[in-house]
Amino acid sequence: MKPELLDHISKLAGDDLPAYVYDLRGLREHARTIRAALPERVELLYAAKANSDPRLLRVLADHVDGFEVASGGELSHVRGLFPDMPIAFGGPGKTHAELTQAADAGVSRLHIESEHELRVLTTVLGDRTADILLRVNLPLTPGPVALAMGGRPSPFGLEPAQLDSCLALIAGDRRLRLRGLHVHLASGIQAPGHLDLAEDILIWARGWAQAHHIELTEVNIGGGMAVDYAHPNQLFDWAAFGAGLHRLLARHHNLTLRIEPGRSVTAYCGWYITEVLDVKRSHGEAFAVLRGGTHHLRTPAARQHNQPFQIIPVDTWPRPWPRPEARREAVTLVGQLCTPKDVLAHHVPVRQLRSGDRIAFAMAGAYAWNISHHAFLMHPAPAFHHLDEAPLPASVP
Ligand SMILES: *Cc1c(COP(=O)(O)O)cnc(C)c1O
Repeated sequence: MKPELLDHISKLAGDDLPAYVYDLRGLREHARTIRAALPERVELLYAAKANSDPRLLRVLADHVDGFEVASGGELSHVRGLFPDMPIAFGGPGKTHAELTQAADAGVSRLHIESEHELRVLTTVLGDRTADILLRVNLPLTPGPVALAMGGRPSPFGLEPAQLDSCLALIAGDRRLRLRGLHVHLASGIQAPGHLDLAEDILIWARGWAQAHHIELTEVNIGGGMAVDYAHPNQLFDWAAFGAGLHRLLARHHNLTLRIEPGRSVTAYCGWYITEVLDVKRSHGEAFAVLRGGTHHLRTPAARQHNQPFQIIPVDTWPRPWPRPEARREAVTLVGQLCTPKDVLAHHVPVRQLRSGDRIAFAMAGAYAWNISHHAFLMHPAPAFHHLDEAPLPASVP
């Protein structure tokens, strides 16, 4: 953990916990690294659903080509913050009102999920145009991944054979401008697997376009770059991914490739900080009960993993009775909810963990607070801290 982060955490009062701390400087460095690894012909969108905190988005806005949103709520949030940024609007079940909103907001790309959706779009456009990508559920298997959304029955996108009726609609309506295809098949794919997938997608897309006499100029290959919660230091290999995309694009001229990662961009900048309320033993096993829980950080429950954490020892113990502790044993870290599912980390060996110690859960910057069931049990919400970036050096003339 960075010294400035540790310093910030140790200055928090007990009443300030639990708290989310977002390391904005780390986020900027990471975003810069990702952008630098990608070839020029690859556009980078950030999938706002991973974490749409305004200050995170402001940092990212300097390094991405635009944002991908998946609801009317995200659309108005992002459009409100960035009146001029390109926005792609995807996701299943877009309502009449959301499609109207998309037309009003002038989104740069609409990702069409079904023929019906395309038809609804034609009823809201009036004399406006829409730039669309057809989302395809290709029969490609990305291998063992965390969250498969394609290559099998799924509510996402169109089957290849269903594209034809969409093409007919587009051919008959000059307001609908087909810009290309969108393929987001899965989450949790490592760089080599993602490159294989990208290659398969482009081969398929080119064959499809040739067969339909379409000039293919854009393919969005989605997000899903792997984040390994068991190995926090093993980041997705952006350098290898970028180099591979560079080689791939050399074989596909006049094609703009777009990616829209979420988790791999913001997961690492977020920390969920809390304290140990109690350490107890049950049927021979040690449990640490923490302030807060999965109603603030649902990620480990949703993905069934151990959230990586660091213990920050607090040496003062103000009580007159012995301090509850676990020593050189495996501890299960749970929250305050009255459900056995409120587990943040299961059976993790610790050297020492005591009531009053602080815990900093890492990798809590994506699909963390915003996917959690905040209202359950009516505990107070965490505070949010943004570790600011260093002031910019005075510019040298
Ligand atoms: C969720 C989602 C993303 C982002 O996925 P990550 O795993 O967070 O990178 C991108 N595109 C689509 C269509 C999605 O549904």
